[in-house]
Amino acid sequence: MTSTIVWFREDLRLADNPALHAARVRAAPLVCLYVWDEGRSDSWSVGAASRWWLHHALAALAQTLGANGGRLVLRRGPAAEVLKAVIAETGADAVYWNRCYEPHAIARDRALKSELAERGIEVRSFPGNLLLEPWELTTQVGRPFRVFTPFWKALRQRDIPAPLPRPRRLNFAPAIVSDPLADWRLVPQSPNWAAAWSQYWNPGESGALSRLKAFLDRDLRDYAQTRDWPARAGTSRLSPHLHFGEISARQIWHAQALSAVGQEKFLSELAWREFSWHLLFHHPQLPEQPLDPRFSHFEWRSDEARLALWQRGQTGIPIVDAGMRQLWNTGWMHNRVRMIVASFLVKHLLIHWRAGASWFWDTLVDADLANNSASWQWVAGCGADAAPYFRIFNPVLQGQRFDPRGDYVRHFVPELARLPDRFVHSPWLAPASVLDAANIRLGSSYPRPLVDLAAGRERALRAFARLKEVGKA
Ligand SMILES: Cc1cc2nc3c(=O)[nH]c(=O)nc-3n(C[C@H](O)[C@H](O)[C@H](O)COP(=O)(O)OP(=O)(O)OC[C@H]3O[C@@H](n4cnc5c(N)ncnc54)[C@H](O)[C@@H]3O)c2cc1C
Repeated sequence: MTSTIVWFREDLRLADNPALHAARVRAAPLVCLYVWDEGRSDSWSVGAASRWWLHHALAALAQTLGANGGRLVLRRGPAAEVLKAVIAETGADAVYWNRCYEPHAIARDRALKSELAERGIEVRSFPGNLLLEPWELTTQVGRPFRVFTPFWKALRQRDIPAPLPRPRRLNFAPAIVSDPLADWRLVPQSPNWAAAWSQYWNPGESGALSRLKAFLDRDLRDYAQTRDWPARAGTSRLSPHLHFGEISARQIWHAQALSAVGQEKFLSELAWREFSWHLLFHHPQLPEQPLDPRFSHFEWRSDEARLALWQRGQTGIPIVDAGMRQLWNTGWMHNRVRMIVASFLVKHLLIHWRAGASWFWDTLVDADLANNSASWQWVAGCGADAAPYFRIFNPVLQGQRFDPRGDYVRHFVPELARLPDRFVHSPWLAPASVLDAANIRLGSSYPRPLVDLAAGRERALRAFARLKEVGKA
């Protein structure tokens, strides 16, 4: 008997799953497979926080398939070998998947497609987790976009394909051996630094749908105003669900309630995601190389000690430390604060954006090769449509503007909880009596600033200005 293998990858859902939909139409019994393949051809194997998410997302998918009378087959090893073994065990004559767009995935899938086709297997791939395929949107002269605004205008004019319905009945092939998920040891053991994460996150398709509903019902209306306030949960927090494909970008785009006031702003953020993937697809070197070639000459400072203090949220700059501790404690950081901590690292400390991107890669539950690389390059000023080099966020002013009462800082940096609002973003300016009253000893209970912000800014401006000379040379 024949069967169709549906190879789940970054699409851990049943609704709007084009590969699953087509396999169901094909009518042969289904083998639902997930492959844990650690041997990648690049240096971006799944980070620690994302592994935690992946474990729970796979458990959720396995449960949903189980409730539908099927099974998620888990196998570990190089994808090509696993697929060949599963084909041999099941007699499958077709393999269907939804596309991934990371450079290593494109290369792997291309090779697999021809290898399996040579063996007489029908291989079909389908649109993955973007609104449009990255090659479908071009400038008027047929080139990829490098500037966001025209990209967004062009995208807004296009009809985005409507999501496919969740399949009602699925017909599964007889069960074959599957690895126990626990054997993959995706969740941390000792210490289990993610023990509290289930309070914040509910990985899996139903968690994604409830998150979307909660956001649409409660937060979308004010999104344009509140999305920049880190103390308020005013953004959707859909990013990890989107990364693992527990919900598709098309489902969100077409969600009914998107007629509210915050809609355009929210859709434009989804478009930033799309833009990042467009950039990665057309510039596969994005995670490693600056898009602006002048930056190859930039003299980044190698400073392991300061990098470690930044990672641990011990820089002495409250909003930076709050952000880095939110990241460590919850696996996520608010977008405004991501920009502030990234700017502090690359501009005030002049540490390479790739060091920041790697740390985010390991610690974010939404770590995403396109969004992470494009955003870090954007902040560093070396990416497409990037922030200009002279835009150096002042973290104190940013904190005062977007966290005026210091609620966010107080939550994640409890040592500063008793400081009055006026000094919560700049404890080093507080008089000794105020510090005493708040039980703070600068240099012991909370660090002094790692750099003098004004001097750091001047140093960065000088370093970045030298690039202009490179450009002229
Ligand atoms: C230095 C830096 C690194 C980042 N690394 C990542 C990353 O690894 N993974 C990731 O998903 N996002 C990354 N972002 C983008 C952004 O911070 C997150 O997507 C956002 O904070 C997720 O929260 P949310 O789902 O509540 O966003 P919402 O505001 O609710 O936005 C909805 C969705 O739109 C997308 N989106 C929103 N803002 C951006 C943006 N600026 N760029 C691209 N897509 C966006 C996300 O998919 C998000 O889930 C990074 C930003 C910076 C400045």
